Amino acid sequence: MPMIRWNPGYAAGAAVYLAFVCWLLVGWGGAQVTAIVSSVGLVAFSALTCACAAMAARAGRGAIAIGWTAIAFGFLGWVVGGSIRAYHEVVVGAVPPFPSVADIGFLALPVAVGVVWMLRAAKGRLSVVRQLLDGTVIAAALFLLVWVAVLQRLFTDHRFGTVHAALGAVYPIAALTMVTMSVLVLTTVPAGRRYILGVFTTGIIAIAMGDIAALYMQLDGDYPTGGFPMISKVTGLLMIAAAATMSATVRRGRSAAGSRTMPTTLMWLPYAPMPFAVVAAVAHLWPDADIRPVVLGAAVLVIATLIRQLTVLVENRRLLEQVAKHAFRDPLTGLANRLLFTDRLDHAIALQHRDGRPVAVLSLDLDDFKLVNDNLGHHSGDALLREIADRLVPSVPPGHTVARLGGDEFAIIIEAGPETPEDIAGRVMCAFDEPFHLDGEDVYMHPSIGLAEAPGLDEPPISTEELLKRADVAMYVAKRSGVGGVQVFVPGMQIGEVGTTPAWGDSGQIRLPPVSEIRLLGELRRVVDGGDLRLAYQPQISLATGDIVGVEALVRWPHPDLGVLTPHQFLPLLRRNGLMGAVTDLVLEQAARDAAAWYRPGIREVPVAINLFAPSFNDATLPERIGAVLAGHGLPPAAVTIEITEHYLLANVRQARHVIEQLRDAGFRVSIDDFGSGYATMSYLRDLPIDELKLDRNFVAPMLLNPRAAAIVHSVIKLTHTLGITSVAEGVEDAATAELLRGYGCTAAQGSYFAEPSFTTALQDKLDVTAPDIKERRAAPPSAV
Ligand code: C2E
Ligand code: CA
Ligand code: CA
Repeated sequence: MPMIRWNPGYAAGAAVYLAFVCWLLVGWGGAQVTAIVSSVGLVAFSALTCACAAMAARAGRGAIAIGWTAIAFGFLGWVVGGSIRAYHEVVVGAVPPFPSVADIGFLALPVAVGVVWMLRAAKGRLSVVRQLLDGTVIAAALFLLVWVAVLQRLFTDHRFGTVHAALGAVYPIAALTMVTMSVLVLTTVPAGRRYILGVFTTGIIAIAMGDIAALYMQLDGDYPTGGFPMISKVTGLLMIAAAATMSATVRRGRSAAGSRTMPTTLMWLPYAPMPFAVVAAVAHLWPDADIRPVVLGAAVLVIATLIRQLTVLVENRRLLEQVAKHAFRDPLTGLANRLLFTDRLDHAIALQHRDGRPVAVLSLDLDDFKLVNDNLGHHSGDALLREIADRLVPSVPPGHTVARLGGDEFAIIIEAGPETPEDIAGRVMCAFDEPFHLDGEDVYMHPSIGLAEAPGLDEPPISTEELLKRADVAMYVAKRSGVGGVQVFVPGMQIGEVGTTPAWGDSGQIRLPPVSEIRLLGELRRVVDGGDLRLAYQPQISLATGDIVGVEALVRWPHPDLGVLTPHQFLPLLRRNGLMGAVTDLVLEQAARDAAAWYRPGIREVPVAINLFAPSFNDATLPERIGAVLAGHGLPPAAVTIEITEHYLLANVRQARHVIEQLRDAGFRVSIDDFGSGYATMSYLRDLPIDELKLDRNFVAPMLLNPRAAAIVHSVIKLTHTLGITSVAEGVEDAATAELLRGYGCTAAQGSYFAEPSFTTALQDKLDVTAPDIKERRAAPPSAV
């Protein structure tokens, strides 16, 4: 409802109105004085309403301004007509003749209401036929009422000639036309202005009732100078003045605050006079006993048709509401669809541009949805999407928009709130931790998530499309990195720029000979259960001394038919089926057992580097578990280097810091793997307490050919010196690269130039080889796996 600012003028107006009503009812000073008060009062209140309408016309724009101008002129007519009548009563001391100029003035109002109706009819999108029929229903019902009340008597009364009677009928007919038109307007105005039109229409009805009551009393022989007709008219005048004031003071702007469908009361409004008309008609005809059955039958018919019609209306409305709802909902999941999503995002972005209210978008894409569809059927695919929707909604704070944009793509709008977008994104990720039960099977399904935040007010504003695009780019980068997790968009990020080889193969494409995936999965489960995965070790060579200063454990699957499979070939399958936890335990146990054979505290402290699956970092008991395994083999924590891939770090900077601190507090070395493959801002290096940096293969390989790559590697190595951490270059395949790295001061190198990954026995040999031997490379490294 509108807020009308309180104004002492209103109190004064209300007091004058009350005094006026009392005067008319009590008749102070006798009939003569009361008649004068009544006539003068009508002029004064008409002038007030005319002024208010003019004000509303000035404040409004377009059709609203024109409409109120018409109404202002209508009441100007009243001021003129009222003044002429008052002159006759006060000065001449007689009732003005009928018809007179005064009547032309009074009839300006119906014309003005007609203008308002035409303005609305020209603008409204409702069909002309419906408007005409609604108008007919209202007018016919009102006509019946007015006929029974006054018109019949007017035309049958012998005191009036036909012409006089017809002229006398002008007022009631004008009144009922006015009411019909304003009710029609009321049923079509937009929600935002409905209350104004409601007050206006009530005012028009009060005036019409005053007119008809005046005629009724005239027919009874007393000329109405005051009493009920005048009170009714003046009340109507004030209501219209109030409507005008509301229209002038209402805040302009989005008026579509209300629902798009018509409220029930307005839907019924055109029919409201019908029951009264039927009752009036029945009462009117009842005395004629001959036609009573016909009258009764007709009445029942009309009322039943009316009720039937109204039920159809109600049903239609319910259907409309459903359609309106579905136009914005994804039918499968019930989440917002793309239309609603973009609409809400547009709105959020507009707020962001105006007040700087933060807004972020999460873009989610399932990693292996196609596999579910292909292997378990579309029915399961649909069930999975529904289940995902059910998990997503509770994982974001209430009021945030969760949408399915199509296929296996979801998106979430994150608006201002106590939680950071990263926190929410993390929770969304956790919603996929548990397996999905599909067709009696546990299926693990993970999304790649991209997060993009709208820039602050001090930066150029961003469009809806651009923000969504950024979230998508980040999502693709997350997908390509293969580690899952959330990727935050950083300026300059582009699709296809990330390191060419994803850490664990691109999701969904497993480079395997054509073996049925289901069969392979069965075998893989057995291998994991039986602890039959093996570890290959690749030495890390000190570039200063040629000594082996570390070894990296790399998992292998010796397959009876397919040969030794590398992680790219089977890790995605493990990951998808929730077997990574078991593999991590296996790798840890085996690496600790193997390291126990070579690790000699104080004599040969060569730590084993272990790659951990990103989600295992969410496990708070991780340091404890690793510590226990090492202790079981008599190894100190320093015997292990934990490799954390850079992609995980970038996606979870805050949590990563906590994880790294925990691991280091427990005494393990921590290394950042694949450095340079993601969108490192470098600044995180300064903040994270790490021991080692592993330069990514794709970063090191082009060094010889590309001076820029070399310069970057050089400066990163210099940075590690400043930070006092060690650097390990991966994928060193030739002497020249090794030499260049040594010149830059790189601590250690790993790669086929020194040694391919090999199983323990071969490693044992290498560890026993003296440093100069390693530096004098052999042409073919032994037992590469
Ligand atoms: P990574 O951690 O970057 O491991 C280094 C990869 O580079 C290894 O591939 C290694 O064989 C390969 N490599 C070594 N020297 C050279 C070289 O001179 N040139 C080239 N082109 N490549 C070289 P691998 O063994 O196939 O492992 C692939 C990835 O699988 C690893 O990348 C690591 O992210 C992941 N991974 C391996 N073992 C495990 C494990 O036990 N657990 C987990 N969670 N991930 C593992
Ligand atoms: Ca690694
Ligand atoms: Ca690496």
